[in-house]
Amino acid sequence: LADQSVSEEELLADPVEKVMAVGGTRHPAIALPADLFQPERVNSQGLDLDDADILASTAAEIAKPANLGIAAGPNAADAVSRALAAYPAWSSSSLYTRAECLGRLADLLEENRLKLMALAVQEAKKTIPDALSEVREAIDFCRYYSARAIADLVPVELPGPTGERNVLRHEGRGVWVAIAPWNFPLAIFLGQVAAALVAGNAVVAKPAPQTPAIAAFAVALAHQAGVPEDALQLVTGAGDVGAQLTSDTRICGVVFTGSVPTAKAIARNLLLDDDRPLVPLIAETGGLNAMIVDSTALSEQVVRDVIISGFQSAGQRCSALRLLLLQEDIADHTLEMLRGAMDCLNVGDPSDPATDIGPVIDQVSYDKLMAYRQSVKDRIFHSVAVPAKGLFVPPTVIRLDDLDQLQNEWFGPLVHVATWKAGTLDATVQRVNAKGFGLTMGLHSRIARSSEAVEQMARVGNLYINRSMIGAVVGSQPFGGEGLSGTGPKAGGPHYLYRFCAERTTSTDT
Ligand code: NAD
Repeated sequence: LADQSVSEEELLADPVEKVMAVGGTRHPAIALPADLFQPERVNSQGLDLDDADILASTAAEIAKPANLGIAAGPNAADAVSRALAAYPAWSSSSLYTRAECLGRLADLLEENRLKLMALAVQEAKKTIPDALSEVREAIDFCRYYSARAIADLVPVELPGPTGERNVLRHEGRGVWVAIAPWNFPLAIFLGQVAAALVAGNAVVAKPAPQTPAIAAFAVALAHQAGVPEDALQLVTGAGDVGAQLTSDTRICGVVFTGSVPTAKAIARNLLLDDDRPLVPLIAETGGLNAMIVDSTALSEQVVRDVIISGFQSAGQRCSALRLLLLQEDIADHTLEMLRGAMDCLNVGDPSDPATDIGPVIDQVSYDKLMAYRQSVKDRIFHSVAVPAKGLFVPPTVIRLDDLDQLQNEWFGPLVHVATWKAGTLDATVQRVNAKGFGLTMGLHSRIARSSEAVEQMARVGNLYINRSMIGAVVGSQPFGGEGLSGTGPKAGGPHYLYRFCAERTTSTDT
């Protein structure tokens, strides 16, 4: 551009038009009209739950005798064979056809919102507000990837010398294996599937063993929306089934969300066979997420955001707060306020609209968290009373003498707290970075310089300043980590779809 004498001011005034004016190529990503996608979770946040009819009908759905059993699907190898056979027709269908399928799927998710919410409550033990967010996020993923596909995956003509035509195309790669966790059994599951499908791939999807029914329902809706049955198949089972799928040398990529050890096991699996092609692994994993609070923060806001970030969804979010780092001067005061706020929390039956925090997912998780909690019982600052029966882990704040005492992600409502001295903000961020995870970080401060410094230093995918650290909104807050926390690209962001594509360039002498 410097050669073409466009001033910086002119460029900033209207970058797209200036690039066009000097003969550059307009990248479709710049051209996404804002009205193509408005996140459902931003538009309707908080509204639906005030609606007594919605609450009553959700409760009625939950109360129905649930049929959580699902028909036995194909085994791993058969599913890959059938997906391979379906791939050519699906990948050569028009981009618009595939994008329209996602649009129809979003409509069907909306129509079936109550059933899906009820399944999320029953199967994943989500509270009603969490179940609603779950469905909204799934709808957002479908609409967002549909809009982005139309804007981004069209062929792009690239500049070249006279007499030469260069075209970059984004096409499906083959059969992707999609492996999802139980904690977002609809949103993450469908987000992976929708992205791979719209990019022109066939998909074999394996949900977590704890949440097969909501996944089966989602796949049935995708088929109803027009995705050919063999282009999207569900294979249920535990880790061994996931391992069979990722060992299959015919697949073209794996998109995975779950724990760090599983991501590493999959990565090793993909390299076991010397003869297999190199295939991409998109892995989004856990975090050791810290919130740093300095003495200028608003205590009420901090307490609200600690409660939301640490305890909502029983702490079973990858983004959840694990490590609260309070500046020494305000630690006692903040913790006393936190104690008061924790005592207002209502832990109990997730299907009761009055419940703030439900149980953890299963007995294995409960036993692990309770054994850990017992091992640190001398350092418990405060915890919340819970019902005697059920898998209720008490939301707990655990004191640390030093932040290095915490090295693992405890996937439950346990917040660890340590202090830092004034003047050591930089060193504190570096110590958090040194843990090797890189998912979310929070900062509460009203000093602009501190926010800028943390923004520069933090090695995390999502930094949240003066707000809670959870609930990334599709299209507004692309989500995903670095280091041990993930490979990228970010889900719900403008670069996600590209990773599912083969990029092919054709250069023709005209
Ligand atoms: P997990 O790793 O135990 O299981 C995830 C999925 O992998 C399941 O479907 C499981 O059956 C499958 N699996 C297990 N072993 C496998 C193997 N060897 N090969 C292939 N597949 C295998 O995780 P989880 O307990 O279901 O989920 C909780 C974890 O997920 C937490 O660590 C959380 O932080 C993480 N998570 C990350 C994100 C993110 O976006 N970064 C989002 C949600 C959850």
